[in-house]
Amino acid sequence: MIEPYDAVEIIRSKRDRAELDDAQIDWAIDAYGRGVLTDEQMAALAMAILLNGMDRREIRRWTQAMIGSGERLDLSGLSRPTADKHSAGGVGDKISLSVVPLVAACGVAVPHLSGRGLGHTGGTLDKLESIPGWRASLTNAELMRQLEKVGAVICAAGSGLSPADKKLYALRDVTGTVEAIPLIASSIMSKKIAEGTGALVLDVKVGTGAFMKDLDSARELATTMVALGTDEGVRTVALLTDMSTPLGRTAGNALEVREALEVLAGGGPSDVVELTLALAREMLGAAGRGDVDPAERLSDGSAMDVWRAMISAQGGDPHAELPRARETRVVSADVDGFVVRLDALAVGEAAWRLGAGRTRQGEPVQAGSGVEMHAKHGDEVRAGEPLLTLHTDTPERFERAVVALEDAYDIADAPVPQPPLILQRIR
Ligand code: URA
Repeated sequence: MIEPYDAVEIIRSKRDRAELDDAQIDWAIDAYGRGVLTDEQMAALAMAILLNGMDRREIRRWTQAMIGSGERLDLSGLSRPTADKHSAGGVGDKISLSVVPLVAACGVAVPHLSGRGLGHTGGTLDKLESIPGWRASLTNAELMRQLEKVGAVICAAGSGLSPADKKLYALRDVTGTVEAIPLIASSIMSKKIAEGTGALVLDVKVGTGAFMKDLDSARELATTMVALGTDEGVRTVALLTDMSTPLGRTAGNALEVREALEVLAGGGPSDVVELTLALAREMLGAAGRGDVDPAERLSDGSAMDVWRAMISAQGGDPHAELPRARETRVVSADVDGFVVRLDALAVGEAAWRLGAGRTRQGEPVQAGSGVEMHAKHGDEVRAGEPLLTLHTDTPERFERAVVALEDAYDIADAPVPQPPLILQRIR
């Protein structure tokens, strides 16, 4: 077969700030899948995109080409509307665990196809795998059956959805090109659009623990993704939310499942409850069920009933004891005062070093390890009182976790107001 384009010419065009036309983009993604455009060439093209950007049309076409590299699920046969959420990861972000069964309890089916953690952010599948028996992989037929029967599914995104993204994401990870907004937006949205959801709510995190460190870049990413979803007929809304401090009081797999269960039982930390309800309201509104109050479904136990059904349907025992780490160590306050900063990245790195995350894809994680936070922004502490409890099965990991936490806290004489959790809504 004679190729209609030459990879080097496409790379040079983007290097020289030209726009790529639709046919060039379609060919680049297709040729990459066939191995005709090589990893080296895609790495160069990704770097040119990172440096010179893409306009809306190019991003849209790039996303469509990635969707076209695999299958697109059709959920239109379900008896209820569908909505999903996406969060680009954060520290202590267990919101998927609470919001998926909650929205299903309100009458909207949630197909939440998710991933594993890499680096300091936890992965939803890793958290759920701390539940004895639970399995992440479902066939498409099993997914559809569970969506119809239970209304809620959290499972691994199969290899059929946007395979071009799988290959490209792994390449970006090792070539310093993860941070390109057109590539992040198309990566996330190609998978969510291919999943077939009718409505989508994006939780775009901003702060030290997030991909996007400042509000302007988070806003640009959110606006780009909302436009991509809307153009493809998915009702899409984004919330920009603070990730300068961890969400809730735990970071780590089983620790976070326990906290999500507290929320589903009608309790839990106020920030986790606030974000769970805000995202649930957005998902319900986008799916045409804005008349239902999700707070009622937390207090009347129906969200917990869906959780149990969802876990059982995937082989898990919702009543089983969750694993606990073999060893703990307490980090205490060295002065009296008020906590005015608790850094998300430091806590995420500590949890990761304790064994909650992985350094290489495929590595096992420790279900019980992580960080429990006893004091957060605004809390008053006395010298000697516990700030954190570190959990791990392998005590030789404590030292490196403690080093990661050296500059995690600021304690001052007077409290300072906490920044809002929800910073902006974009649609
Ligand atoms: N998550 C994704 O799925 N893709 C990215 O590029 C970044 C975060």
